Amino acid sequence: MMTTQEVRDVLQRRDFSPASLMALLGTRGEAMEALFQEAELFRHRISGRKVYLRGLVELSNRCAKDCYYCGVRRSNDTVARYSVRPEEVVNAALFARDHGFASMVLQSGERSDRHFVREVSLLLEEIHRHTGGELHITRSMGEQSRQTYKEWYDLGAHRYLLRIEASDPELYARLHPDDGLHRYEDRVESLLLLKDVGYQTGTGVMIGLPFQRLEHLAADLLFFRTMDIDMVGMGPYIEHEQTPLYVHRQLIPDKETRFLLSMKMVALLRLMMPDINIAATTAMQTIQEGGREFALKVGANVVMPNLTPTKYRENYLLYKDKPGIDQDAEDTTESLTRMIHAAGLEVALNEWGDSMHFRKRTNY
Ligand code: SAH
Repeated sequence: MMTTQEVRDVLQRRDFSPASLMALLGTRGEAMEALFQEAELFRHRISGRKVYLRGLVELSNRCAKDCYYCGVRRSNDTVARYSVRPEEVVNAALFARDHGFASMVLQSGERSDRHFVREVSLLLEEIHRHTGGELHITRSMGEQSRQTYKEWYDLGAHRYLLRIEASDPELYARLHPDDGLHRYEDRVESLLLLKDVGYQTGTGVMIGLPFQRLEHLAADLLFFRTMDIDMVGMGPYIEHEQTPLYVHRQLIPDKETRFLLSMKMVALLRLMMPDINIAATTAMQTIQEGGREFALKVGANVVMPNLTPTKYRENYLLYKDKPGIDQDAEDTTESLTRMIHAAGLEVALNEWGDSMHFRKRTNY
């Protein structure tokens, strides 16, 4: 077990070797506190107290994939499937703009049929028409062809999130069916395509999965760096009863461990990649009250207030106990803003909040 002094020394040397990362991820007590303190100081030095907001709309839970961990997987027939209507998405976009968010995220289950691709394209056009192109749009819609990524890019959506979920191919294979639709290589290829098309590219992993060890998490951090990624959204794995992975629930660490591991991942990533955007995710809040604030303190700089119309929220349960399903956009935004201020941080209004890393990477 690392001592406080050892933590400070390793961080001082910026030694992010796999062995050091594993040791840092394994810290507890005072040594872990030292890691959090270093990360907090670093966060303040790099991005001050700023937190960027991205209005999130969970567009549709219709999904062609069957990921073993996900509550909206294709085979879960207990879920009522929905698609948010275009005018409701436009309303959410206007809400985001009027509240100074400057940016929104459209997320959905994964489909790549022509009809879906076309619908998303039309939606992007609508949003731009109604907001005068003022909103930056991130998509989180899974693996698509180069042509589709390009089509959406040309319509002005320049950011994309695609979590690798687990950067270790073997672990990835244990989390997904072997049916030709869930290949690790395709996921990596998609990330490379996104970068090549010109997107600010985000990825991420789940933390505290069955079969996952500290060496996997250390490798995840190094994967983000090797892939030279611009944004990261990650969070604790939370079991869902109607999924195949639920049978392995006795293999997952307890909630507190999963939460603290997630915070150590954020802290380390901030120290390793000073200029990327890191999200404080809903899953962090689900597993521990105050989880998002904690993440923002130790390194995250983005939060995604949920703007999905309330009536759909109960059908976008990727995991159990997801909070805020009875709230509307106004409540969600108010409580988040209060939380950010209470944490001694400030909301960056009317700023796009591009990943600084992306700017440097592309000289833009
Ligand atoms: N279909 C899109 C969006 C997926 S939902 C895509 O493939 O990119 C967004 C994220 O929720 C997933 O990438 C996954 O990391 C996370 N997620 C899904 N099920 C989860 C669970 N049970 N616990 C925690 N996170 C989960």
